Formats: sequence, C-alpha cells, structure tokens
Amino acid sequence: MSITTLQKSDLQEQVIRLKKEKNAVILAHYYQEPEIQEVADFIGDSLELAKKAAQTTADIIVFAGVHFMAETAKILNPSKKVLLPDLKAGCSLAESCPPEAFRELKQKYPDHVVVTYINCSAEIKTLSDIVCTSSNAERIINAIPPDKPIIFAPDKNLGKYLIEKTGRKMLLWDGACIVHEAFSLDKLLELYKAHPQAKIIAHPESEAHILKVANYVGSTSGMLNYVKQSPNHTFIVATEAGILHQMQKDVPEKILIPAPAKEDNTCACSECAFMKMNTLQKLYNCLEKEDPEITLSEDIMHKALIPIERMLQLS
Ligand code: SF4
Repeated sequence: MSITTLQKSDLQEQVIRLKKEKNAVILAHYYQEPEIQEVADFIGDSLELAKKAAQTTADIIVFAGVHFMAETAKILNPSKKVLLPDLKAGCSLAESCPPEAFRELKQKYPDHVVVTYINCSAEIKTLSDIVCTSSNAERIINAIPPDKPIIFAPDKNLGKYLIEKTGRKMLLWDGACIVHEAFSLDKLLELYKAHPQAKIIAHPESEAHILKVANYVGSTSGMLNYVKQSPNHTFIVATEAGILHQMQKDVPEKILIPAPAKEDNTCACSECAFMKMNTLQKLYNCLEKEDPEITLSEDIMHKALIPIERMLQLS
C-alpha cells in the first residue's frame, strides 16, 4: 500500500528522531526506495557500505538492503545490534549457492583459492579464502599468485567478465542475479537506435551480450563516477533502477534512461523485488521495536570475518 506525502514526511521525521535517541545508523543501498535513501546516514554499494559498517560507532546498525549485506555488517560488528527492516529481503544470487553443494565443489578442488562475491550467505563466506565486490574483484583476482587455480562464486556473469579482464582461468559457480539477467538485448538496441548519442553503462552482473554493447562496465559506484565525469549528456543504465535516484541527484542536467527488461512491467526497467521489500514503514517499525534482528553463531561470524577482512585490506 502506498503512503501519502504527509505520512511519508511524518514517518521520515520519526525515523530521524528514533535514530538519534537510539544512537543508530542507517546504511542504505543504492537500490532502496528514494524515501529510504533520504533518511539514511550513508548510501552506497556493497563495498562502501561494508566499509561504513566496519567503521561505525553507533550502537545499532539498520541495514536498508538485503539479508547478506546485513549479515556482513553483523560479522564486522558482532557486539552490535544489526536490524533488517524485512528478514525476507533475500537475494536470488546468494540463494543460487547453497552451502552443502558448494562445500562438495570445494572438496573436489582442494588446491583452488576460493574467491566469493560478497552477494552470498555468511555460511558461504566461511568457505571462502577471500571475498570481493564488483568494485574490487579485478584487483583481488590479480593479487592471487598466477600459479594458483581459482574457484569463483556465485555469479557466473561477473566471473566470465573477470576471466576476460584478468586473463585468469577460473572455475565458475553457476549462479546469477535475476535482476541483471532480465535485460533484453533486443529492446536495449531498439532504445539505443532512438538515442544514438547515449552511452550504455552496465553492471558486470549483467549477461555477456549486454556487457559487449556497453560503453562502460563497472560497479554501482563506478557507474556513478562515470556518469558524473563523462562529457556525454544521455545514458542508458543497465543495473537495478534504484540507482537512478542518486545518479539523477548527482547529474540533474543529464538524461538517464533505465535499460529495458525482457518482461513488460510498469516501469519498463529492472527492479529488485528483494530490495523493494524494505519500505519506509518497515524501516520505522524495525527501528522502534529493534526487530527483526540479524543473529549468527559465534563460529560463523569468526570464520566469515577472515575473508571479509582480507578483502577490506586489499580495498
Ligand atoms: S539486484 Fe540481484 S544481486 Fe542485488 S540483491 Fe537483488 S537479486 Fe541480489
């Protein structure tokens, strides 16, 4: 149910009040609704938010994002309360890599270095040697001695892109993000025909045929920087449509067009249904009740911290 403007500003005021009273910090991913981004203390991509989570002095972290992101914040802050407005805010990519099956693969290739994209569960992180995000993946792969074979999980599209960029052979887990696999190449090319002056920018979780026609491929923050620095005026943006809010704020004079999805939907773009499970009302409720809370066993937090810290050291 949509909320009225009055309810929205009232709820936003209440969220800001509770935040102060409880010494809480709100970390919001770029894919969150604008009304959530407006009350957040920090807005960022996975890497930026993981860094903020590692640095915060707040007593409570409210993670307006999806489950694996809130888990990462908890692993970095085991003594703090970490809240997620909706516990069902999962991630198709994280779910495509179940721990049992991944453990079996790892056992078959014991000499391989295991690199996992941060979009995976805490349990998968315990099975990893090093974690990466789309911002630092290339640097992390390049830091692994060339004679070491690599398993990369869970995103096969990002994995293929990294193989091309680094020239490293990697064994890829067969996982993908439903949002970034939803882009239609045919519709994208049609759109480009109508805007031949546009630059196409894409997130590396997108399929190879989309990346091939892109003028720029990079992480969410990489795309933001590209649009800010480019002399171009029009961009077709192939990633979750939520980023357009922050991007448009950064470049109000430029035209940003969401890349079209295969399925016809109301916004003709690609939105992550998991990210959108968090609403302003749920954000307020969770801050007020301090629930739902992310809980993880000591053992999982301890083991998952090692590959996350390795990533942060290299970032
Ligand atoms: S956009 Fe894709 S990778 Fe990101 S949270 Fe949603 S399903 Fe997961």
